[in-house]
Amino acid sequence: MVISPSRKDKVEEEPTQMIRLGRTLKTNSVEAFFNVNIGISQYPENGTDAETLLRNARVALDHIQYTPGQSYALHEAGLENRLKEELTVGSHLPKALENGEFHMVYQPQYDQGRIVGIEALMRWESPILGEVCPDVFIKVAEEGGWMTDVTKVVFSLLEHDLPEIKQYMNDIRLAINISSSQLMDRQCLQGFAELNTLTGMPAEQLEIEVTEGAVIGDVEMIAKKLDKFKEKGIRIAIDDFGTGFSTMTHLEKIPADMLKIDKSFVSGYPDETDGNVAALVIRTAKTLGIDVIAEGVETKEQKTFLEENGCTLHQGYYYSKPHTLESLIKLLEKTE
Ligand code: C2E
Ligand code: CA
Ligand code: CA
Repeated sequence: MVISPSRKDKVEEEPTQMIRLGRTLKTNSVEAFFNVNIGISQYPENGTDAETLLRNARVALDHIQYTPGQSYALHEAGLENRLKEELTVGSHLPKALENGEFHMVYQPQYDQGRIVGIEALMRWESPILGEVCPDVFIKVAEEGGWMTDVTKVVFSLLEHDLPEIKQYMNDIRLAINISSSQLMDRQCLQGFAELNTLTGMPAEQLEIEVTEGAVIGDVEMIAKKLDKFKEKGIRIAIDDFGTGFSTMTHLEKIPADMLKIDKSFVSGYPDETDGNVAALVIRTAKTLGIDVIAEGVETKEQKTFLEENGCTLHQGYYYSKPHTLESLIKLLEKTE
């Protein structure tokens, strides 16, 4: 899509409308689900001839194609560099997965001063590239079809770390991020069963975090997949909530135990957001009778705002950054 200067005010509105149109298509008795992705370049910032404008729109499209929850993107400076970075990451990732260059870090979740949960987050320390951001390598792994290997690595790391953490866990939950392709992969559910057997970690203390972007689409099919986790006793949290297009009807079908307010609606308060979306997500969770957690809590002001709106479950730098296994154990020892 190429936008001319006279239609600049429509630069967000038009793609959003087209994407909505795409999602709701019905043919006779059949309901068809498909995603519309739009790459946008603007004249004259992104080019002054048709060829350059189309090429840059294509670059923007390539960028979003595998980004969960994002359906359109404007071409911007640095996009080509990011694509190059992703290519470099992709060329090192398969070997890194074999070579054991990954470890897990753990970020505590607090309820009124008490640790009630921990989110496991993957880290890649590459001897060649240095520390690679998980947002980047997870996206590249999705694109390259390496998520089954990522799943194997995550479970083997958790199997190693959990016996030590478990001594301090009592009723603390462990949340594990699951991407849309991991959700579709049988090995992932199998991984949870093995984790349960090998570490003795009760399924009821395990939680999967699935992004809102991953549960939009064929809701019936996704709900069936999620039910399989639920049947094992594993809890389901909807991550990055507020960034997608979920409706109440979606949520009624999905067996969610918790909504996780996206950090952009929390860490941006009060400078970049008035907090209305966060407050709305809290009310939505209360209406559905499920839990709600806020991530990205960075200041006392944000903590107070959330508490005043009825959300006491928090995660963020105000409380703690993600910890290595060793420093998590020290923290849990102290708080026992
Ligand atoms: P996420 O699941 O939304 O994880 C939260 C991210 O926010 C983490 O970044 C965390 O370090 C960061 N964060 C925590 N508190 C704050 C805060 O107060 N302020 C700000 N600005 N950020 C905060 P991280 O570790 O870089 O992870 C990025 C994303 O990578 C995750 O987003 C998740 O989507 C993905 N990811 C990480 N580990 C895994 C994994 O094992 N499997 C899968 N499928 N995805 C993973
Ligand atoms: Ca998460
Ligand atoms: Ca999140």
